[in-house]
Amino acid sequence: MIQKEQNINFLNKLSSILTKKISPSNTIGEINKLFRAYLNIDKAEFVIWDNNNMALRDFVCDWKLFDSDIKEKGINTIYGSLAITEGKRFFFNDSEFDCNLDEEEQYRILELKSEQNNIIYPLVSNGEVFGLMNVYTEKNAFTKEFFTILNISSKLISGAIINYILNEQMEISLNFYKAMKDIAKIIESQYELSYIIPLIGEMIDRFMTSHLIYIFIYKEDKYKLVWPNACKDENVYKLLEKINQTTEFILSENSKIGVFPLISEENILGAIVAYSNIEKLLQKDIDYLTQLTRQSGLTIHRANVYAEVLKYATLDALTGLNNRRQFEIRLKQEVSNSKRNNIPLCCMMIDVDYFKKVNDTYGHAAGDCVLKQVSEVIKNEIREYDIACRYGGEEFFIILPQTKLAEATSVAQRLRKVIEESKMDIKEAEINGISYIKVTASIGVCEYNNTMSANAFSQKADKALYEAKTTGRNRVIVV
Ligand code: GH3
Ligand code: MG
Ligand code: MG
Repeated sequence: MIQKEQNINFLNKLSSILTKKISPSNTIGEINKLFRAYLNIDKAEFVIWDNNNMALRDFVCDWKLFDSDIKEKGINTIYGSLAITEGKRFFFNDSEFDCNLDEEEQYRILELKSEQNNIIYPLVSNGEVFGLMNVYTEKNAFTKEFFTILNISSKLISGAIINYILNEQMEISLNFYKAMKDIAKIIESQYELSYIIPLIGEMIDRFMTSHLIYIFIYKEDKYKLVWPNACKDENVYKLLEKINQTTEFILSENSKIGVFPLISEENILGAIVAYSNIEKLLQKDIDYLTQLTRQSGLTIHRANVYAEVLKYATLDALTGLNNRRQFEIRLKQEVSNSKRNNIPLCCMMIDVDYFKKVNDTYGHAAGDCVLKQVSEVIKNEIREYDIACRYGGEEFFIILPQTKLAEATSVAQRLRKVIEESKMDIKEAEINGISYIKVTASIGVCEYNNTMSANAFSQKADKALYEAKTTGRNRVIVV
């Protein structure tokens, strides 16, 4: 006989387990411990009805279809019977009872009692049965109170599980839309595949937690892994062989690997692969991946088109500064001019400090905002005939014709200071609550000495920059 006080104690403990912020498997583990201690229950399982697969799934291991073998009636049949009762009935060893047991029914239960007893209560939300609480007990007094407590427990646990499921769904769809948006957004300013593919990879990877993500690019009749560094499973390569322009996706026989072709205008650009050796891909994963792959295909296609167009451009698309190609041309011109006419020439290389951290903390869109504003600072601080360019990523070069080292150094110092003091506006990147961030930059400065090649000249600035980095950053080093 469970005493009143004990019942209250039990329910308090159950509530406190259900409100703890712990994983589903820990929650179910603790419920099991509590059930064992107070109700003499050997095991409690929680299963959820999955409409997609018309089957019951384990709540904790949601890829595991549930099939219980100790009952004569299949668990699906029992679910079917309980589903139409709005949560008012339960099963005891294959027989159905009303949750408010009357005396006669209590006797029936005692008659049905055996060595191994199985009690099944519905999990209910808004009058709708969405799963089952399935408990096993060998020896028990099976009092009315025992069933009352089980009934209340099933209601409390229903609420907690439904909350968990809703939260998870909301989080997944938020993450999904964020990933879609981020992938679509990359292309506004980026066109180098070496830059955008890792970004796409990271975005999908962050979204798909149960599977590893690989990205392959199709080149010269082969699939080349471009993100991350290694994929050892031969089955992935075998599946890749099977796809063509009309393939929507291919799953491995065990459904643990999925290959989603990146297609644009009927050409295969590559494939995104979701890989696991434990978990199957569920229908919802497949839906998400199909859409993310489609978006990625579009993005990669557009990047390729941009890259082609920009081959002949002189300006960098993100910052409007000269691009690297133009830099090489201008540097050669200025070097030969300086050599020929014996006029001073300086250059400096600028690199934003800890820029990767900016991207990692605030996202790449915020990183791009910073790059644009650093470029604006550079444009504002240099003279009309200085030549500024974006050398790559977060690295900039400035060529200062007719400039002596002392003057170039003071330009560099000023630039470093203005960058340090600027509030970089990242509102455009839509980070909740954060409008501005600060960054610093390291700068290496050097003067042309009339004998070196253009290449050696720029390398000298690079070396000075390296020294600025290794001696603490946010500083100017002159060599
Ligand atoms: P350090 O102080 O040593 O320079 O550290 P860092 O993090 O700035 O240097 P690192 O070279 O490790 O990282 C540079 C980062 O710049 C990595 C890359 O993802 C990022 N990046 C390159 N191009 C772009 C771009 O066009 N936009 C954005 N947002 N990030 C870029
Ligand atoms: Mg760098
Ligand atoms: Mg840097």
